[in-house]
Amino acid sequence: MRILLVEDEPQIAVDVKTALEAEGYLVESVSDGEEAWFLGDTEEYDLIVLDLGLPTMDGLVVLKSWRNAGRQIPVLVLTARGTWAERVEGIDAGADDYLPKPFRMEELLARVRALIRRSGGHAVDTIEAGALSIDMRQMRVSKSGVPQALSPLEYRLVAYLAHNKDRVVPAVEILVHLYGDDDRHEANALEAVVTRLRKKLGPKSIETRRGFGYRIADATTGTAD
Ligand code: CA
Repeated sequence: MRILLVEDEPQIAVDVKTALEAEGYLVESVSDGEEAWFLGDTEEYDLIVLDLGLPTMDGLVVLKSWRNAGRQIPVLVLTARGTWAERVEGIDAGADDYLPKPFRMEELLARVRALIRRSGGHAVDTIEAGALSIDMRQMRVSKSGVPQALSPLEYRLVAYLAHNKDRVVPAVEILVHLYGDDDRHEANALEAVVTRLRKKLGPKSIETRRGFGYRIADATTGTAD
């Protein structure tokens, strides 16, 4: 899962980035409104955490222009602007959730999890796919109830496929959500991770659709391990 963090207070930015990375997210952090607008407009993220008081372009303006351009990425707004009128303004501008400063990191993480979960249409933190159970809260994968030892990268791939289990996910999209826009990583690096995962989780746990992408095996979508 790839998150864009937009926050101009250096200490908050570092704290939030560290906490999100510890939860297994890939985080890109920017402190400037215009740069945030550009990235949110052109890059693919699973979630954006957006402060409102920003240099060069106000967060609300940034959010409105994303929404006007049809960008549907879930946005969690962070702000010191605490009055009810300002919160209403944020939600009207297209925020999916709103967290007033100061906040507890646990609350931010819970809201991030909930927003990402809902964007995939999942009502609970644990996603079932075939024999696998992916606990997005504990960052744990079990197969038939048995916990599996995965590297952070392997976990991120399984979690991303499980989050999108109703479709075949193109390799290019997976690379972006796994590594960001670092183009040193190529499709054969991804195939290597998939091969390791099949050894750990079962040969049919992840399907390759040649020329299309990857899909996690799931009884409810017509495939099973
Ligand atoms: Ca600020």
